[in-house]
Amino acid sequence: MFILPELPYAYNALEPYIDERTMQIHHDKHHAAYVKNLNDALSGQEALLALPAETLIADLSKVPESIRIKVRNNAGGHVNHTMFWESMTRQSDRKSAPSGALAEAINAAFGSFITFQEKFAAAGMGRFGSGWVWLNAEKGTLTISDTANQDNPVMEGGKPILGLDVWEHAYYLKYQNLRAEYITQWWNVVSWAVVEKRYAAFL
Ligand code: MN
Repeated sequence: MFILPELPYAYNALEPYIDERTMQIHHDKHHAAYVKNLNDALSGQEALLALPAETLIADLSKVPESIRIKVRNNAGGHVNHTMFWESMTRQSDRKSAPSGALAEAINAAFGSFITFQEKFAAAGMGRFGSGWVWLNAEKGTLTISDTANQDNPVMEGGKPILGLDVWEHAYYLKYQNLRAEYITQWWNVVSWAVVEKRYAAFL
């Protein structure tokens, strides 16, 4: 049985960059629906219901073919959104850029933090339709990738340490069609301390 996690901050904690109403609908309606649909799809499958959602999507061959697409979409949605909420933070816990080993790895892989941000944003703009942009820890380096729908790099053996939701539901109320502006403003709320911890776990 999967459970919708509470947001680790108030709905309005990311204002003015991500508005309260978007956070309410995104968490209480969209994420909640992924969790409900995942539980419904796996109804009666006790062994699969006991697995972490990350484990489920890392090896979808273990899921019966008749429900595999539902599990892929909804377990993916559950994992992605849980990670997304944890990747953002209230103002008092923010810093404008990563430091330490993650900062060094970003500079080594992309040349500079600014260039990394530009490439990440370009991947977000290049993702046609709904999907996600990722920063991944690879052996010895970092990569940027993007996925469709609710797919996650772990489905292909990847190690994502930061993901950005570029579905319209993530930004349309405040930014309408201006995805580029949403991405630009989103950097203001990223929790680099959390991303640094995820990176350290893969070192
Ligand atoms: Mn979303």
